[in-house]
Amino acid sequence: MTDVSTHVIQVNTEIPGPKARAIIARRDAAVVRGLSKSTPVVAASASGAVVTDVDGNAFIDFAGGIGALAVGHTPPTVVEAIKKQAEDLLHLCAIVGTTESYIEVCELLNDLVPGPYPKKSILSNVGAEAVENAIRCARAFTGRPGIICFEGAYHGRTLLTLTLTSKYDLFKKGFGPFASDVYRLGFPYLYRRPPQMTEDEFVDWCIASFDYALVAQVDPGAVAAVIIEPVLGEGGFIPTPVRYMQHVAMRCKQHGMMLIADEIQTGFGRTGKLFAIEHYGVEPDMVITAKSLGAGMPISAVTGRAEVMDAPAPGGIGGTYGGNPLTCVAAIETLKLIREQDLPGRAVQLGAIIRERMTYWQQTFDLVGDVRGLGAMLAIELVLDRSAKTPAKELTLAIIQEAARRGLILIRAGLFSNCIRLLIPLTIPFEQLHEGLDVLEGTIRTISERR
Ligand code: PMP
Repeated sequence: MTDVSTHVIQVNTEIPGPKARAIIARRDAAVVRGLSKSTPVVAASASGAVVTDVDGNAFIDFAGGIGALAVGHTPPTVVEAIKKQAEDLLHLCAIVGTTESYIEVCELLNDLVPGPYPKKSILSNVGAEAVENAIRCARAFTGRPGIICFEGAYHGRTLLTLTLTSKYDLFKKGFGPFASDVYRLGFPYLYRRPPQMTEDEFVDWCIASFDYALVAQVDPGAVAAVIIEPVLGEGGFIPTPVRYMQHVAMRCKQHGMMLIADEIQTGFGRTGKLFAIEHYGVEPDMVITAKSLGAGMPISAVTGRAEVMDAPAPGGIGGTYGGNPLTCVAAIETLKLIREQDLPGRAVQLGAIIRERMTYWQQTFDLVGDVRGLGAMLAIELVLDRSAKTPAKELTLAIIQEAARRGLILIRAGLFSNCIRLLIPLTIPFEQLHEGLDVLEGTIRTISERR
């Protein structure tokens, strides 16, 4: 338990409080129901890992804008840079002319993204747009149409990226027809492997299935790219097994398929390295970033081999707002903070603390079936029955709702919506981390006892 004197959570009203309830009622009336919300928090301000709502309640934020806030809420240097930029220049458009901050972000990314070859970058607004750009470059470079993606993947909600996204019921139902030339292969979800197989045997089987698909589903000569999240994000924080990633990378090299690492959720220190792909000893041809690149400002990027990135002809790539100066100065300051504060190193420290607590929960509560992830990108998978592994979807929701009432912001994940994933600002003070973990533990205990 943490020292109570350092506690930051303050819950003075019911959650949602009166002002929040009124705004949520307006949201329900004015905004489409398809845009769901995981908590009833109505934020007024935030700093670091603490969000204050419109009724004056203070929450610890373990969702971090779904992984967009590695540097925490409103870091002062980022805010200052945005304020100054807002006074100087709001918009030019990279198709019209050049702003230096755009170039600086690309230079920084070209430098930071792994791979011992000349690199180039293109900036855009959101993750999905960057995924589209990466596919565009891969197709233009290879002259091939096919894209291989995986079960459990999430790559966005535009038509092509929704096609690449898995989890049909929640994300895709009713939205077809989808894009063509997309091939979805199985993913080594170790927790849900056939019970008679060891982890190693299952990885072997998945590797063999990958090769089989290159015969049964699509010829590798027709595949422009394989797109993979080094750790599945929305899919439930499942790290790609090292041997599997290395096999995929080897086949990519062999057949001239581009290996695209979608690091939108895993990037910028979250897993204990600046990029999660650095855990694997492979060289991706392209790395896609977004989320924590901008500390909450909408900026995304593709960084990759210069010859691949230069494949689309002039005019073939771009948009009105991609690399807007406000987002670029935010990214420059954010990247400075990530390096100055060694956030990858901090993710390792936070991850060790979180994993220890989660392992204790797994030993203590039958509900917690699996603990997994990489660095500070950790999740628990909740099941009603340890041997059948029946997903505890409703109880997961109940924990998230009860935690919000106790001042902790959480989100779920997983193909079965039964995982609680932590995307905590990597700058969180240790006392606040413990305070939040105490609340989560107490909530799991309460919900477990209510079963
Ligand atoms: N790829 C991954 C791995 C993601 O986690 C997300 C967002 N959750 C996206 C792509 C899409 O990003 P955006 O919502 O910014 O379009």
